[in-house]
Amino acid sequence: MFISLINLFFPRVCSGCNSILLTDEKVICTSCRHEIPLTNFHNNPNNEAVSKFYGRIPLEFAAALFHFQKKGIVQEIIHKLKYKGHEEIGEMIGLWYAEELQNIPEIKTVDFIIPVPLHPRKLRERGYNQVTAFGKALSESLAIPYNESVLVRKVYSKTQTKKSLLKRSELNTAIFDVIYDEALIGKHFLLVDDVITTGSTLEVCSRALLKIPDAKVSIVCMAMSQ
Ligand SMILES: [Zn+2]
Repeated sequence: MFISLINLFFPRVCSGCNSILLTDEKVICTSCRHEIPLTNFHNNPNNEAVSKFYGRIPLEFAAALFHFQKKGIVQEIIHKLKYKGHEEIGEMIGLWYAEELQNIPEIKTVDFIIPVPLHPRKLRERGYNQVTAFGKALSESLAIPYNESVLVRKVYSKTQTKKSLLKRSELNTAIFDVIYDEALIGKHFLLVDDVITTGSTLEVCSRALLKIPDAKVSIVCMAMSQ
C-alpha cells in the first residue's frame, strides 16, 4: 500500500519510453524489453564484435548485448545512463547480460572484470563511471571479482599533449597503463564498456592489459553500433 502511494505521487517511468512502470517492472517496461534489438553475439563465435577487433588485438571472446541504433530505445537508455544519472540502467543491463553469459565457456575462465576507466575530468563532471554498475552487476551475478585498479588512465596536461610529437594513435596507447603484481600474471581479464563504436579505446585498453605477462583479454559491452 505504501509503495503504491509512492508510485501514485512519484510514478516510476520506463527509461525507454517514459510510460509508467507496473509494480513488477524494473527500469524498463515489458514492451521495451521485447523491442530492444538483441545481438545474440555471445552464441556466435564469429560475431561482429569479434570481427571488429580481428587483426587488431588478440581476444578470447567479444560480444555486446544490444544493437545500438540512433533514435532507438538503446540510444535512449544509454543516454540516460551516461548523462542523466540513471546508474540503475547499467545494473539492469549487467544483470540481463549475466544471465545470457553464465554458460559461455570463455566467460567461465575469466578471472577479473575490468571497467574502461573514465577520463578524470569526465568523472568529476558526471560523478560516476557509467560502466561501474554494469561491471559490478556482472561481477556479482557471475561471481567474478571486479577490479578497477589494474587498468588506469594516465593524466596528461594540455601543454604536455601539445608538446608531444607522438601521433594520435601512439598517444592513445600511452593514455592507459596497467598496475599489477605477480598475482595477476597469466590471468584472463574481461574488459567492460558501454558502446562499441570504432573500438579504438577498447583496443588500447586491451593492449595495456596484454602488457601483463601471459594475460588473456575478452570484451563485453552493453551495445554495439553498426
Ligand atoms: Zn518502455
